[in-house]
Amino acid sequence: MPVAHVKTGSAASRRKATRAGPAERIAQELRAQNERFSAAVENMSHGLCMFDAEERMIICNRNYIDLFRLDAKVMKPGIRFFDILQHSVDIGIASQSAEELYAVRKPYIDGAKPSTYEETLADGRIIVISHRPLASGGWVSIYEDVTVQRRAEEELKEQHRRFDAALANMSQGLLMYDADGKMIVRNQRFLELYHATAADFPFGTTHRDALERLLELGIYTKIDVDSEVAKTAACLQAGKMHSTYRYLADGRTFLVVRQPMSGGGWVVTFDDVTERRRAEERMTHLAHHDTLTNLPNRSMFRERLDQALSEAKIAPLAIFSLDLDRFKAVNDTFGHPAGDWLLRCVAERLRRCLRSEKDVVARFGGDEFAIIQSNARGAADAEKLAKRIIEVIGKPYRDKGREMHVGVSLGIALYPGDGQDADTLLTNADMALYRGKSEGRNIYRFFEPGMDAMVRERRALEADLEAALPRREFELDFQPILDIASSDIVGAEALMRWRSPSRGLVPPDDFIAAAEETGLIVQLGDWALRKACGVAAGWPRDMRMAVNVSAAQIKSGGFARSVIAALAFSGMPANRLELEITETVMMDESETVLRTLGQLRGLGVRIALDDFGTGYSSLGYLRRFPVDKIKIDRSFIRDLDKRDTAAIVRTVIRLGAELGITVTAEGVETEAQLEMLRKAGCGEAQGFLIGVPAKASETSRLLRSQEKLRQSG
Ligand code: C2E
Ligand code: MG
Ligand code: MG
Repeated sequence: MPVAHVKTGSAASRRKATRAGPAERIAQELRAQNERFSAAVENMSHGLCMFDAEERMIICNRNYIDLFRLDAKVMKPGIRFFDILQHSVDIGIASQSAEELYAVRKPYIDGAKPSTYEETLADGRIIVISHRPLASGGWVSIYEDVTVQRRAEEELKEQHRRFDAALANMSQGLLMYDADGKMIVRNQRFLELYHATAADFPFGTTHRDALERLLELGIYTKIDVDSEVAKTAACLQAGKMHSTYRYLADGRTFLVVRQPMSGGGWVVTFDDVTERRRAEERMTHLAHHDTLTNLPNRSMFRERLDQALSEAKIAPLAIFSLDLDRFKAVNDTFGHPAGDWLLRCVAERLRRCLRSEKDVVARFGGDEFAIIQSNARGAADAEKLAKRIIEVIGKPYRDKGREMHVGVSLGIALYPGDGQDADTLLTNADMALYRGKSEGRNIYRFFEPGMDAMVRERRALEADLEAALPRREFELDFQPILDIASSDIVGAEALMRWRSPSRGLVPPDDFIAAAEETGLIVQLGDWALRKACGVAAGWPRDMRMAVNVSAAQIKSGGFARSVIAALAFSGMPANRLELEITETVMMDESETVLRTLGQLRGLGVRIALDDFGTGYSSLGYLRRFPVDKIKIDRSFIRDLDKRDTAAIVRTVIRLGAELGITVTAEGVETEAQLEMLRKAGCGEAQGFLIGVPAKASETSRLLRSQEKLRQSG
């Protein structure tokens, strides 16, 4: 160690000095001093070079030689300063000529004051030179390589420039607080975002000051300064980022993110996310709502139901499954824009039917809706709501001078009785709806255990039916129709039967509805038409054939074509064919239906209104479309001995006479009934008394024998 070496040296000289004379002592002391000086010079971290008044080098240290990469052999004491410069030029370390370098140095050499200057070497290093004149003439120069330090400084400056540029160009507002909680950085964007000035938020502002200032400026309205300050403290303590949304008084939303810094203090960024939030809100709204009606959609309904169930626990709920009746007819008749308008009206009416904020009405698609009724006091409340809905939805919808009608059917499942979870409740409400639909329209039904079995059975029936047509499992029976006045059989009605290998002989009442539901009725009805016309073609010339037709067939389009084809194939004249329709056909109000019927009637085909008296029996239907025949439903004939019923039947018969419409009584089973009908002036009768539905061959035989009788009579 150089220091130790110097000390050792001086201790040794002191010991020697005790024995030596004064001159010797001084010489020793000088030597020791020289040694100390050399050691100090050699060990200093800078380069050092000392020159005498003649500009000759007295001493230089190793660092100096290394710094300038000089040749130690050249650098002997006594060398002239200019020669050193020349040497440095020769070895390529200097960036200028020796003369130029010397010219730069000369004023320092001649000057009386210490000075410091810089020199850049050819290799780019920067050397700081401290020049100090010596009292005895000459000077000392101390050299320091500051390249690394300078670079770091440059870099830091560059970093600052970049940081400033980044701050100025950020889309986010930014504040930085130091470890003492004082604001030390604030970019322009921050001020812009808050429409504030630099004076509003001077450096040194604390977080609390800033929040209070924002309140003062009316930028924030609802904010609890204490709790916000506490939150920041907690976030700093935890060393974790913390973000929060701020809702500004002007409606904008900012995302504020606080990020603690490693050295203490924290950075806050402010992002205007108003648009993004709105877009997100729109997206979530879209994802959860039906675009047409703006009602919650199925997924939102499920969410709300799950939520209601988790909150309910003991409080009862009612789940409604709704389906509009005759909505398709509105679409067909008035077009889809009208259908959409109507659905929006329905949505609005349903919304108004709800009494509680918590209740939810959703659209599942098409004309299907669902409702959660919370705090329903069991079935009574649900029933009240169901009745209200049926009444409200059933009222006419008037738009642009048009009047539209729909009905609604409802299935209701109650929580907790009818199910514990959303899936079960929804399925059971659907089941009840299905039941309601199969029993008629504008009906509500509560779920009952066993309904699922019924639904399963219905599905099985539908599947069997589908397979039955290609297997030719259907048959037609024919029931004769009597002209009461002449006592002649004037025709027969074709009645369908299904001879199922697994179910036996199935009556139409058990499968027509299912065939209508699945749409199979279109093919099935087509088959019945062809078959019936084919049979009638072999009958005596004046015999009529009545064929039952479902609304679904007429609405399917192509019905007129199918009738014409059946007539053409069989060769039967159109005026011998009678199509029996029910009121539901008329109720559809669809233009297509009326146009199709009108077209067929124009060909000479007769139209009969079947089961008259069982539905609405609105006389309006008779006006809307002129029919050729009314068939009084057999339930009236059965009760003909009752005074009221008899009065109704007589009135209908008279009405027919007035309108020039044939009236046929169905289900005539006794002579008394027939006698009464004859007296009332009823035109035709059909029923077991006249003849039960029978096979084609049997009916043909009956008709031919009557024909023979007539010819002989
Ligand atoms: P509907 O058109 O009113 O047919 C008359 C029904 O009354 C027939 O029942 C017939 O068997 C029954 N009936 C006739 N006379 C009497 C009687 O004196 N007493 C009693 N109690 N009943 C009598 P069915 O054959 O069971 O047909 C039931 C319904 O099924 C028909 O009522 C009709 O609406 C429908 N249907 C039958 N065949 C077809 C078809 O090919 N297509 C369509 N769409 N529906 C059909
Ligand atoms: Mg009929
Ligand atoms: Mg009938």
